[in-house]
Order: sequence, then structure tokens, then C-alpha cells
Amino acid sequence: MLASMEPPRTVHPRRKPILIGMLALTLLSAAFWFSTTWPYRIIKANLKSKQAFTHCTGDPRIWCEPGSDALAAEVARHLDTAIATIERTQFGRIALPVNIYTYASHASFAEYTGMSEPRAAVFNGAMHVSPVSLRANGGLAPTLVHEMSHLQLNLELGTWAFGGLPTWFSEGLATHLSGGAGAEMVNETGAVFAMEEGKCMTPAAQGSRLSINRHVPQVNRIDMLYRQGAMFIAYLEQRNSAAFKAMLEGVARKQTVGKAIGGAYGLALPALWGQFLEKARADFNGKSKYQAGPLCRVK
Ligand SMILES: [Zn+2]
Repeated sequence: MLASMEPPRTVHPRRKPILIGMLALTLLSAAFWFSTTWPYRIIKANLKSKQAFTHCTGDPRIWCEPGSDALAAEVARHLDTAIATIERTQFGRIALPVNIYTYASHASFAEYTGMSEPRAAVFNGAMHVSPVSLRANGGLAPTLVHEMSHLQLNLELGTWAFGGLPTWFSEGLATHLSGGAGAEMVNETGAVFAMEEGKCMTPAAQGSRLSINRHVPQVNRIDMLYRQGAMFIAYLEQRNSAAFKAMLEGVARKQTVGKAIGGAYGLALPALWGQFLEKARADFNGKSKYQAGPLCRVK
């Protein structure tokens, strides 16, 4: 019989507990590692009960933490304009339901979102707004448009596909369409100087869900990434508005950003990036006494 011909498959009795111990240790290490990642922090924060939140403005789309009435009123004042702006410029309907949470303090915003840096955020089909947004340049309105760009894509693509967009693309798009919200610390001149020094974003074809900041240049990290992304997105829009619309439609069909751009423009993403850098340098040199050298060359 076949069974009698097989070698005995017994584990040494003393090795069993060792193997189980090693397995438990591996699982514990994996659990600990996951608990340090940002998706875990965000998921945990988002599971926090919002039972005390009310519709303090009367608008059923806005959920107010007690004490956030002034912020919620400002959100209500600008909400329809923000939705109309994104539906017009991003070529996508804002799917229902729209849920926007306003917070009484930034500490509370951080507690409920798992994120302490931004002044507003979109996650899992909902927008969260910190009162810090009221102090931003231009008031709350540009921030609301920036976040509405994220919310439209999140509601259209679902959370998983939305999380897979490269950061330069989703943030560059939101920053460009909002007139610069999120990149206030870096203007275009500052971005060109940084790019001349080789401090450049990486125009990745698709994103990483675990490392939100993987492609961020090393100076003024967030604002610099958003500014460079916004400049590249603006270039794509100005270069060919029909292709720009086709690219966004490709992204809405869950193509990777690289594929959507390549299909819409008939040119690969790295080639378009190279042509953008040449144009950004030429535009800068046309307006400035200082003549910038080639951009994004490692020195
Ligand atoms: Zn953003």
C-alpha cells in the first residue's frame, strides 16, 4: 500500500511547542507591525462612535461634533459651490450620500481620523474637517474644494481603488482644482528652485496604500509635493483639455493613473513629465533674470 511506503511524518514531541511558540511570535510581530501602520490608525479612529454628532446646521449632509457649530455653518455656506466646482472641473458627479464631519477642536479631529497633520481629510467615503481649516489662506472655501476632489474620487472609485491612486496625482489634482489649497507654503518659483536642485516628486504610475509619503521630496515635504503635483496637473490640463477629461474618465474606470494618462495623451507618463519639466523651466526663465538649469536632474 502506498501509505506504508511513505516515510513517517512525525514532528519531534519537543519541537511542537517550539514551532507553536515561533508561529505565535510571528503573528504577534505582524500584528504589532500592522498596529504601527497608518491604515490601522485610521481604521481604528474611524470606528470611534459618533453617536453624539448632530445635524446642527439643519443640512443632513453635515454631522457636527458638539461645539463645532461655527465651523459647520461655514461648511454649509460653501458646500454647494464646492460640489458644483468639482463636478464641473473634475467631470464626475458627486455620488450620494455626502457625509461631512465637523470637529470642535483639532485634537478631536486627530482622535477621530487618526491623522494629526492635515486640516481636513477624506476617508472611507466621508469628509472630516478640523477647525484649523477656518484659519487657512482664503478661509475654508478652498480647503472644502480640495477635499471635495478627494470625496468625489473616493465615492466614485470606492475606498480601495481610491487608496491606490498615487499621492502626487490625487493631491496635485485637488490642489490645482482648489487654486492651491494644501500647498500654501510653496509657490511655483520655490518649486522650480527645488526641482533645479533635483528635489522632485516621483510621478509614479500607481500609488502605495501603506506608505502615503513614499514619493515626497525632502524639502517642505507635503506642500512641495502638492505644489509640484498641482503644476504637473495644470500642465496636463493646459496641454490638451480633451485628453485631460479622457484621463479623468480612465481613472474613474479604475485604470491606473499611468494607463489613464498614456491612453488619453498617447504618450507615456515619464515622457509627459519630461516635457512638463522642460516647459516649467522655459516658462520660469522667460519671466526671470535668473536662468534655471535643467530640472530634476540628480546632481
Ligand atoms: Zn488632499
